[in-house]
Amino acid sequence: MRVLVINSGSSSLKYQVRETDSDTQLLSGVVEQIGSGDVPDHGAALDLVEAALVAELGQDPGLEAVGHRVVHGGERFAEPVLVNYEITRAIERLAPLAPLHNPANALGIRAIMRKWPSLPQVAVFDTAFHRTLPEHAWRYAVPNELYTEHGVRRYGFHGTSAEYVTGRAAQLLGTPVRGFDGIICHLGNGASVTAIKAGRSVDTSMGYTPLAGLVMGTRSGDVDPSILTQLMMRGEYTAQELDSMLNQESGLKGIAGSNDMRAVVAAAAEGDDEAELALAMAAYRLQKFIGGYHVAVGGAQAIVFTAGIGENSWQFRERVCEGLGALGVRLDRMANVEKSREPRVISASDSAIKVLVVPTDEEGAIADQTAQLIRDSGEQQAPEGE
Ligand code: ADP
Repeated sequence: MRVLVINSGSSSLKYQVRETDSDTQLLSGVVEQIGSGDVPDHGAALDLVEAALVAELGQDPGLEAVGHRVVHGGERFAEPVLVNYEITRAIERLAPLAPLHNPANALGIRAIMRKWPSLPQVAVFDTAFHRTLPEHAWRYAVPNELYTEHGVRRYGFHGTSAEYVTGRAAQLLGTPVRGFDGIICHLGNGASVTAIKAGRSVDTSMGYTPLAGLVMGTRSGDVDPSILTQLMMRGEYTAQELDSMLNQESGLKGIAGSNDMRAVVAAAAEGDDEAELALAMAAYRLQKFIGGYHVAVGGAQAIVFTAGIGENSWQFRERVCEGLGALGVRLDRMANVEKSREPRVISASDSAIKVLVVPTDEEGAIADQTAQLIRDSGEQQAPEGE
């Protein structure tokens, strides 16, 4: 099936066309600066996408479906869904939980409804895979009304990636997904770690928002919440200032001055103390999560690295794994530095837990889930049509 995958942000729209049967990417691109003079809105962005599709694939690009990356599915969406007006409104109603993302995702959906009204659309939610967390993992120890009235709970993100990588890791180990216990470290600009028990997510480091957990490119990850309330009560900073500070000026950037892992690793190698400290903090935080999740899953078979840093930075993987000796983790140093785009094992043969590198493919996973859902719903409808 030929699927257009859309990741619609407030000012950019990323797209890919995937052929799911052959698992190939036909084209990909991004429209930026939506809201500026040239591209006033998401409809105009889609006109540019259409022009690119026609230029590459011909007058009829042969699209059969659209799959959308939707950041927040709240408590309602545990699976991909076929989009209609009601679903689009439900995605918009989740805006308080994801103010930057969900309205932009819905704009993308509505623009497609206008342009190609007969093309089926599927929403794939970044939170969905984490709907299997047990309540003691997703509740915060705050008064119940914060949950019941304000939806304050752990939702978790990067679910599409974690699910895809879990499947690939199980395949690599020759175990059925339902027999896989492991820890998925998705380390990109945003970074999260997910505990997998019997193929399902049982805990994850991001929380109510994607700010929680690991030290990231520009995000702080976990901090003592009193830091914020104290600074606000003293009138030193406003809530908005702290929010942007923690999201955009913290993490590697806050400590080392750069959010690019390559630059931080290079600076540390040249003796830059702040870069060294940033790496030590990021690795230590991840080691603590891995130790905790090893307990949460009752003993992990594998620790899996994925996304920009996880797939490419052998230095960061080495640093993290060196601190996991107490778990019996032993890296094969040669395998770790090897460059490859294939899923692979990088631990030594006597390592108590296997260490894997598995490239993620969120767009491919969205395309596959979209095609699957459309086929299934077609099968369900078939008897009526006869
Ligand atoms: P996003 O969350 O934006 O999708 P990515 O998964 O693309 O992010 O990851 C971006 C991160 O990956 C950056 O910190 C970047 O420095 C890092 N990265 C990309 N390539 C390499 C590489 N070859 N070596 C080390 N780090 C890399």
